[in-house]
This record gives sequence, C-alpha cells and structure tokens, in this order.
Amino acid sequence: MEIIREIPAMKAWVRAVRKRGETICLVPTMGYLHEGHLGLMRMGGPLADHLVISIFVNPTQFGAGEDLATYPRDLPRDTELAGSVGVECIFYPGAGAMYPPGYCTYVEVEDITEGLCGASRPGHFRGVATVVAKLFNIVEPDVAIFGEKDYQQLAVLRKMVEDLNMNVQVLAHPTVREEDGLAMSSRNKYLSAEQRKNALVLSRALLQARRRVERGERSAEALKAEAVRMIEQTPESTVDYVEIVDPVLLRPVERIEGRAVMALAVRVGATRLIDNMTLETS
Ligand code: AMP
Repeated sequence: MEIIREIPAMKAWVRAVRKRGETICLVPTMGYLHEGHLGLMRMGGPLADHLVISIFVNPTQFGAGEDLATYPRDLPRDTELAGSVGVECIFYPGAGAMYPPGYCTYVEVEDITEGLCGASRPGHFRGVATVVAKLFNIVEPDVAIFGEKDYQQLAVLRKMVEDLNMNVQVLAHPTVREEDGLAMSSRNKYLSAEQRKNALVLSRALLQARRRVERGERSAEALKAEAVRMIEQTPESTVDYVEIVDPVLLRPVERIEGRAVMALAVRVGATRLIDNMTLETS
C-alpha cells in the first residue's frame, strides 16, 4: 500500500500509470472508513487497472460551528481496511497543500445545490465540488465512485462532470446499512447507545413512506407529514428537513408518480444524520 501525501508525487504516480496506458478508479473519502466506503472500493476494483482512494477531511465543505475539528480520523486503521479490499494507493494530502495561502478558485454548481443539505449547510457543496474537481485533476481517474447515501452530493457531482465536460465516469453505489437499517456513516461514532437507537427513526420513516406509496399514497405532503411526526415523537431528535424530490434535478414533487427520492436530515442530540430512499409507483 502506498500512501502519497504530496500533490507532485501523486501526479508523478498518475503519469507513470497513464504512460503504460492503464486506467484508474478513484474513491474519494474523508476517512474513518466503514463498510459503506469499502462497498464502493469493492465495486471499483474490477473497473480499472488501479484502485486509488483519497482521504481528506476537506475544510471548505464544513461550515462554521460544524465538526471539522472533531471529525474522526484513524489512518492506520483506514490503511488496513483499504488494503483488505485491494486499494493500491491512498492519496492523503494536507489541507495546506490543497488550499495554500492565496487559494481563491471555487466550483459553484447552481440550482440543484439550493435545496436539501444545500439549504441547511450554505457553502457545503461549493466545498465538495471544489475538492472533487481538484482530486479529479490530480488523480485523473477514468472512473469515480460515490455513495447514494449522500444523494444530493452524487447529483451535484454528476452535474459538475457533465457541465464542465470532465473526462471521468461517475458511478453510484447503493447505501450500505447496519443490520437494523441505520445508514453507515463515520458520524455514527458520535452517537451514545441511546441516540444510536433513536437514530433508527431515519430509516424507519423512509421505509414507512415507501410502504405507504406501495399501498397507494401519492401525496408528498402526507408522506412528509408522517415522517416529521415520527421524528418529532423520537427522543432527542429534531427535523432539519424532510423532502421528496425528483431523482435528477432534485426539485420538490407534489405527487409520487414514477420515481422520486425521499431525503431527510435529522439532528439526533448534536449529531446531524442524513438518509434517503427511492419511492416508486409501479
Ligand atoms: P465520506 O467519507 O463520508 O465523505 O464518504 C465517502 C464516500 O462514501 C461518499 O461517496 C459517500 O457517499 C460514500 N458513503 C458513505 N457512507 C456510505 C454508505 N453508508 N453507503 C454507501 N456509500 C457511503
């Protein structure tokens, strides 16, 4: 396993691979790896000659008062886990190398960043799009894999790649869950045992909506109201947002016809968790 910290060294590694006509798959992460991340890596392995991950807790996607300083980090453990699923190289840059003094270029994806997490975390997707564009320029992947767990992020990055004509294929991996339904997340580490139980309300509310759609409910308003009720009845849990949107442009829908995505963000204690599921009429 190679751990490359410097941008010029990473570029040299990529140049050597490119010279041999070989391909690269990149899985960008913020580290503290779990089975969700590993699912993306297992998917990526067979898709290219080389599997590279990046681990970078990107300061520009955190707002004031968010958990940048406390975000969990564990490089030795991450290295072992990544190695176990065939990762060949970890790009592990420092914040000072990615954003040196005088840095002033950012990528703004408009419109689809306005709602959902974009509304409650201003500037978040500007940071995400910027860092992923930089990672794409440094690692030059043929394929990059992102998780559906962060559904809006995936949609924003697909749009960025399309709009800026980037030479990378973006692929999605389904959300990986704990056995009881909780979507895996590095932030689950912040939860106490009691909060961990309360956090199940996210997946339960989504599953309940899915069942109601199967039984004929079509009103987004009714589905959202029930999810909000479930969350509000759960101790220590407050709604950040509950939305039902179209799967591509993420515009709110009033009725479920065909496919829609229900997305929600909930604060459990001090921890903000997100989850989403597809709702589909047959
Ligand atoms: P993060 O380290 O949280 O920035 O996540 C890195 C990548 O892993 C992103 O593309 C996430 O969407 C993806 N990811 C994180 N958690 C999960 C999960 N539970 N299931 C699927 N993908 C995930």
